[in-house]
Amino acid sequence: MLTATPFQTLSRQMSGRVVTPSDSDWDATRQVFNLATDLRPAAVALPRDANDVIAAVEYARASDLRVAPQATGHNADAYGALEDTLLVDVRELQEVSIDAPARRVRVGAGVKWQSVAPELSEHGLAALHGSSPDVGVAGYSLGGGMGWLARTYGLQANSVTAIELVTADGRATRVDADHEPDLFWALRGGNGNFGVVTAIEFGVYPVENLYAGVMFFPFGRAAEVLHAWSELVPTLPDEMMSWASLLQFPDAPFVPEPVRGGSFAVVYGAFFGTEADGRALLRPVRELGPAMDTFAMVRPAALADMAMDPPDPLPFRITSALLDDLPHAGVDDLVAAVGPESGSNLAMVELRQLGGALGRQTPGAGARATLPGALSLVALGVPEDEASEATVRAYLESLDRAVGPYRVGDYANFVMEPTDASRFFDEETWARLREVKALYDPSDLFRGNHHIPPAD
Ligand SMILES: Cc1cc2nc3c(=O)[nH]c(=O)nc-3n(C[C@H](O)[C@H](O)[C@H](O)COP(=O)(O)OP(=O)(O)OC[C@H]3O[C@@H](n4cnc5c(N)ncnc54)[C@H](O)[C@@H]3O)c2cc1C
Repeated sequence: MLTATPFQTLSRQMSGRVVTPSDSDWDATRQVFNLATDLRPAAVALPRDANDVIAAVEYARASDLRVAPQATGHNADAYGALEDTLLVDVRELQEVSIDAPARRVRVGAGVKWQSVAPELSEHGLAALHGSSPDVGVAGYSLGGGMGWLARTYGLQANSVTAIELVTADGRATRVDADHEPDLFWALRGGNGNFGVVTAIEFGVYPVENLYAGVMFFPFGRAAEVLHAWSELVPTLPDEMMSWASLLQFPDAPFVPEPVRGGSFAVVYGAFFGTEADGRALLRPVRELGPAMDTFAMVRPAALADMAMDPPDPLPFRITSALLDDLPHAGVDDLVAAVGPESGSNLAMVELRQLGGALGRQTPGAGARATLPGALSLVALGVPEDEASEATVRAYLESLDRAVGPYRVGDYANFVMEPTDASRFFDEETWARLREVKALYDPSDLFRGNHHIPPAD
């Protein structure tokens, strides 16, 4: 008698594919954004709709497999080993529906910000996306989501109005503030630990005046620029979000021509207001005399790739931290560790201003309600071989040591390695997340990138 090989039964139940290690496109299918990640799940299910997701969840449960939900694979390193896990990759759930008058968007869980931001901009609207148009709405929103407009409107997770998902018992449900509110709360910060999300609905915001851009300074002026910027940011109103970075660009086509292959200290800003007011706010930095200044009144779409993040997969190593401050001595230590004289090969060392709405808990917020600290740091290097990998790691560690005294926490979306997820939450929030997990997924079927175990 012929018996079905593993996953054939699931394959027959789904309209989408199940890709296994014996398929010719196995390597292409399991490849994620970080090319240094070697993701090896038992198989990858590619659902085309919620029924496919139900089939995958039920199959995994019956087969003693776990389920890891994934959208774009931008934060896949954090899973760790996946041998006993079915990766449910929702990349084919690509529906986008924009209700401009209601300022409401509903997207399939595989949608990237690049499929939403340009059209919203045509309507004079902006979503709370982050620095890269290539990142997925799902993972970004479920982990928090901190972008250009965050000091005015907070984290994207708290602009989410409804989530459609398949839970551990194979049930498709839509949760919001009035329907299964505990689950709705937990999903907004608790990542993929509570089910496979199939669609997300969220609010977007009108943008009348937006003054935004980048000032580029020679890399050698990093200390001067970061000192001026770190003294400026505490004085800025919530309507202004400013970031400062040390950037060492590769000679690659995705990098805009004038800066390709160059190294710079840069200051970014996005301001809800007029050019005159924006210029006045940024005067102390501009008085340093940038080599190039792209600030102008822009449409919201300009924010989507203003940070010049790489659009295509590449191998990288990353570190991050939330900082309560970076005083004069802290800036000096950071520049000594990874600045122009250090020999650092890090491609990016980025400081983002926090505060404003990011520090205020609003009624009805999710588990990731706020972010602690005054600054977020994220840095990455792109190793080309084993030697540069060791150098990248050494500079990331050196940076960690330099900012160590000011570290107040970690932001889950920027942590891309296996870790104890309790570090992202206060005790009360962590305990409640584990209670909700015990209620909805007592057998711990779902493993998000940052795992939340059920309460005992
Ligand atoms: C270049 C780059 C720029 C970034 N910029 C920012 C930024 O500006 N601000 C910011 O906050 N973050 C930023 N991030 C971090 C990013 O938000 C996280 O990596 C996020 O987890 C990516 O979500 P994703 O859906 O693209 O990736 P994925 O790796 O697909 O998803 C990450 C996790 O989200 C959960 N998840 C995804 N899809 C589902 C689903 N359908 N159902 C249930 N759970 C799911 C899972 O736990 C999954 O492991 C950036 C990352 C990169 C690589």
